[in-house]
Amino acid sequence: MSRRFEDELDALQQQSLLRRLRVLESQPGTGIDYAGRHLINFSSNDYLGLAGERFLKEAAKQAIDEYGVGSTASRLVCGTLAPHLLLEEKLAAFKGAEAAVSFSSGYATALGTLNALAGKEDVIILDKLAHASLIDGARLSGATLRVFPHNQMEKLEAHLQWAREKHPEARVLVVTESIFSMDGDRAPLADIVELKDRYGALLLLDEAHAVGVVGANGRGLAELLGLTARVDIQMGTLSKALGVSGGYICGSRALIDWLINRARSFVYSTAPPAALAAAAAAAIEFMQSAAGEARRQRLWGNLKILAAGLPPGLTPEKLQSAIVPVMLGAEETALDASRMFFERGFFVPAIRYPTVARGTARLRLTLSAAHLPEEIQAVTETLWELAE
Ligand SMILES: *Cc1c(COP(=O)(O)O)cnc(C)c1O
Repeated sequence: MSRRFEDELDALQQQSLLRRLRVLESQPGTGIDYAGRHLINFSSNDYLGLAGERFLKEAAKQAIDEYGVGSTASRLVCGTLAPHLLLEEKLAAFKGAEAAVSFSSGYATALGTLNALAGKEDVIILDKLAHASLIDGARLSGATLRVFPHNQMEKLEAHLQWAREKHPEARVLVVTESIFSMDGDRAPLADIVELKDRYGALLLLDEAHAVGVVGANGRGLAELLGLTARVDIQMGTLSKALGVSGGYICGSRALIDWLINRARSFVYSTAPPAALAAAAAAAIEFMQSAAGEARRQRLWGNLKILAAGLPPGLTPEKLQSAIVPVMLGAEETALDASRMFFERGFFVPAIRYPTVARGTARLRLTLSAAHLPEEIQAVTETLWELAE
């Protein structure tokens, strides 16, 4: 048996697809200590530099003192504590929704929610580049799945038409991200909302990489475009710009009550520690402060510095988020490029199959409000070197 795993791992190695864990020896921040080197980190999703902030640590520590470490049971048994409800109130207000429910992770959110909202008789239509958690949740639900090519609205419409003709009684759910995790581009949300309304479908929008980055106080793309009220199911994570851990859904009171009853990753999993809920609540509070908005503006200032220094051709023409893909194609090319950045003192990971499609391997550079202008300048020099 173990021989077989070894052979399969060897095969991955041969294809430049083997992955290994890296152990970092530093606090979250733009500088990381790894393999005896000090590197500037361009790989984290901590877009606002919150994960290592003192006020978040304090919020977590205080909650540990007050409520203990473990939450002892699921939310529906005896795991619900004041910080969970406070977090959910703040999330609902922040996202302009009636109610919210939080989960242990974004992954658990997608799995539990899609499985609770759709069954065998229903149809789920996904963007081709939707996150693995959304795909897994859709599969788990047993619904009929349809995938449209990334951001292609004619294809989405064709699937909606098909669903309405062939499954007139079905619930039809459109699932997409607002900012795509590996490409950094945006969904044409106004068009999607028009279409799903026209065909009487529901929309689940995953704002994992938009919250904290776009919209007033970082409320996300739906808010930026004035479409919040038309997004039926607003999903996000607490683990990216918010700097903590966990996931959430915001929506109508009835939707949230349904998920509390039927989302299996919520019902059958121990409540996240109160400390995480308290820290996430503090992060949402911060986002809505003047200091939070200034932090978000600093991120966009940094993106402007990066955009001005990018070599043409390798990266998108216009940066639409804090994620900058450097498209390279072959797995090995991406690994070589990542090594080159490492040698120059930067941590920029290669993103390969199965995270992205075969032949679309890339570096994924992410920016933070905490990067210094000279760090951004320095990384662009290595990008120019790569472009040559
Ligand atoms: C990271 C991510 C998730 C999963 O969230 P976790 O909190 O890391 O489990 C879900 N959707 C998207 C688009 C993501 O990028």
